Amino acid sequence: MKKVAVIGSGTMGNGIAHVFAQHGFSVTLVDINEEALQKALGTIARNLDRMVAKGTLTDALKEQTLQRITTLTSLEEGVREADLVVEAATEQEELKLKIFSQLSEFTKPEAILASNTSSISITKIASVTNRPDKVVGMHFMNPVPVMKLVEVIRGYATSDAVTAKIEELSRQLGKVPTPCHDYPGFVANRILMPMINEAIFALYEGVAGVEEIDTIMKLGMAHPMGPLQLADFIGLDVCLSILQVLHEGFGNPKYAPCPLLVNMVQAGHKGTKSGQGFYSYSHGTKDLVVAERFR
Ligand code: NAD
Repeated sequence: MKKVAVIGSGTMGNGIAHVFAQHGFSVTLVDINEEALQKALGTIARNLDRMVAKGTLTDALKEQTLQRITTLTSLEEGVREADLVVEAATEQEELKLKIFSQLSEFTKPEAILASNTSSISITKIASVTNRPDKVVGMHFMNPVPVMKLVEVIRGYATSDAVTAKIEELSRQLGKVPTPCHDYPGFVANRILMPMINEAIFALYEGVAGVEEIDTIMKLGMAHPMGPLQLADFIGLDVCLSILQVLHEGFGNPKYAPCPLLVNMVQAGHKGTKSGQGFYSYSHGTKDLVVAERFR
């Protein structure tokens, strides 16, 4: 495997492109939005600079990494020669089904089609393609260049060979692949999202404030980040859509998203990416400032 196409250049797509390019793959990064592509290139360059400053990457390797990444707004052109496609577009089922039916048409028949989805059924995504045995979940964690885990999700029809190939590839990227089966939320989000939702309910019911909830979980449970800050970092819209998938998939009211989360997403307060969430990011992400509404 040499050529990788990454679909979607947002929070996750730029990190996935970065990691593959750094490990010698030729990467085509595809997004419908040219601005998002330019922003992604800027983020990758800044993250590589940080690695050079820390002494974990040489200047020459940084340049080679950047040279291995091409950006495109045409899906058809971007995936034509890919051996592997990693889709990291917006977390919407209809959108992913559309992208995978196009991938099925535009890619080489032997290409593996992976999705970085946080919660949408890999089996369902595979069902719209002409090769369900070659469709798999490759769930990277945020920030991709730093986090070691890749949750490898086997859809109902994913073959042993494709699962093994993705595990091997993840190890090649310096990651730790961990396989699981395709049920709502897989493992990571099935456990994480109810905790985040419960933290939002505690805030909504006035049990404690934003800082108190995060401090209790950081100092009490040794979490590196409180659940509300983590929700902002993941994206409140992403958290909401994962909870909706869990709620619908299991039919259990315990997964119903907190009405406060729903309101915040509807108001466009999506966390760090929109500048407002439980915290305000108008002055960057270094100093945590509780959003005015929650002070
Ligand atoms: P994001 O909103 O930051 O970026 C999504 C990008 O997809 C945008 O740039 C958008 O323009 C692009 N896009 C939309 N439609 C497209 C299309 N048809 N073709 C190409 N590009 C298209 O989202 P994100 O947080 O990077 O999430 C991407 C995926 O990764 C989702 O499936 C999400 O569930 C998953 N994920 C997110 C996180 C996280 O912490 N944010 C962690 C793990 C997995």
